[in-house]
Parts: sequence; C-alpha cells; structure tokens
Amino acid sequence: MSRTTGWVLRSAAIASVALYGAAEGVERIQNGSEAAEPFRIIGNIHWVGGEYGSYLITTPEGHILHDTGTNEMHEVIVSNVETLGFDVEDIRIMISSHAHFDHVQGHAAMKRATGARVVALGGDAAALESGQDNSAGGFPGLEPVAVDRVIEDGDTVTLGGVTLRALWTPGHTQGATMWMMTVQEDGDSYSVAFRGGEIPNQGVQLFGNPRHPTVVADTRATLEKLKGLEPPDVLLHNHPRDLGRPFNPAVPVSARCFTCLDAEAWTDFVAQAEASFDEMLREAEATPDP
Ligand SMILES: [Zn+2]
Repeated sequence: MSRTTGWVLRSAAIASVALYGAAEGVERIQNGSEAAEPFRIIGNIHWVGGEYGSYLITTPEGHILHDTGTNEMHEVIVSNVETLGFDVEDIRIMISSHAHFDHVQGHAAMKRATGARVVALGGDAAALESGQDNSAGGFPGLEPVAVDRVIEDGDTVTLGGVTLRALWTPGHTQGATMWMMTVQEDGDSYSVAFRGGEIPNQGVQLFGNPRHPTVVADTRATLEKLKGLEPPDVLLHNHPRDLGRPFNPAVPVSARCFTCLDAEAWTDFVAQAEASFDEMLREAEATPDP
C-alpha cells in the first residue's frame, strides 16, 4: 500500500492545481471547505489544512500558522487546530507560501480570530495589504489584511525557541517565500522547508506583464537558488502530492502526510519546474506579439 493510497485519486485530480489557469482557479474555490483530518507531521509541525495546505508550528510561547487557504477553509483550520488540542487564540504569527487566494485568502479572518502578527515578504506583503493579486497570473483577490512585519530575503521569524528562515523565491508571485526550519524527532534533527512557489502559472503572460514585469528574470533566479540548495529532509507542499513511491524511510515523517516530499522527490520537483518553465518560455518566444 502506498502511504498516499487514500489520496491518489484526489491528488491526481488536483496535482496540477499549482499550475492552473485563472478560470480553473475560480472553479477550484467551490471545493475550498473540503476538510482533512489534522495530524502531527514531524516534530512540532502539524497539518491543519483543508483542500490546500495549512501548517501549525507549535511552541511553548504560542504558535505560528503557515497559510490560511481560501475563505472557505477558515472554519476547517480553526476546527483542526482545536481537534489537535491547541487554542486558536494562541496563534501569534501568520506566515505564508505565496500571495495567491488559495493560500492567503483566509488571512484577514484568521487575524481577526487570533490577533496574530502577519509577516510577509515585499511583493506579497503589498498584495495582502491591497487585497489585489499582483502576480503574473492576476487571480481573484482577497480581503485586505494589515501586514505587521514586511521582511526581506534571509530574514528570520522566532517564537518560543523556533526559528524559521525566509528564502525569497519570486516568480510564482512577487514575494513567494520558502520558509525553512529544523525540527527534532526521536532525538535527531531534520531540515524542513515549506514550499513557496517556483514558476509562474501556466498560460500567464511572461513578457511585458504589467503586474510583474520582471517575472522571467525572477523565475530564473528562483530556479538557480533552489537548485543550489541542500535538499531538505522534508518539503511540505501547499497542495497534496503523490510521490508514487514510499517516502524516504530514514525520515520519521507521519505516514498520513500527503503533502510531504523527501529530498529525492524535492530534487525531481525542482528539475521538473525548470523543464516546465523552459517549455513555457519556448512557447512564449514562438508566439508573435499581438
Ligand atoms: Zn499559486
């Protein structure tokens, strides 16, 4: 039995969701309240998401929430946090993978419910505060939310002995961020990264895009940065994934994790992203200007 057996069909249906076009993106929102049982993934990291990823990083001094999903996911996340025995009001900090509606639309409601400080990087901070998607895709927006701390590449967020470091990965959105931390499990340390984004969505305008004029250069820089990284022991994707094989058995990650990629899968994932982007560029260059 594959560790992801229960998710294979669903994963197949939504595996390409990270690369969907605008119309499909709007359609997807209809299923946004779909729930998944919460569970501890590894160390102090827990799955509390619904159709899209949302992670709770717990500490003795309050918690950090990574991604809030769509509006429809708000109640799912609140219920999942409480099912795990944690108090939603103890969420102190909110961070995010990237400012597309399927990952941050719930930020305003979650900030109201918790009073947490919102932390975001440059271009994504601007999208959160304006409520307008400023990525090349220009997808549906969100209720504007105040950003309490605007960070830059390499900045860290610390709470209760936990430190997360932000790696700026622009391209998918202007402030897409891969957050990285170390967890302890059974006395050993493991590197964990939360996926930010790699390349623009399929079908977006790559050249002369008024929302994100530097999208091609930013994506190239992101891919170079990701290829130069030491692969994390665990990459937590923001959409369900199907590895098609067992997760690296040397890493004690929950068998229920349907968003986890091991180091080998991560390396393949980055290579695939680069190949997809090369193909997008070839198509864009072959299409004459209107
Ligand atoms: Zn996205």
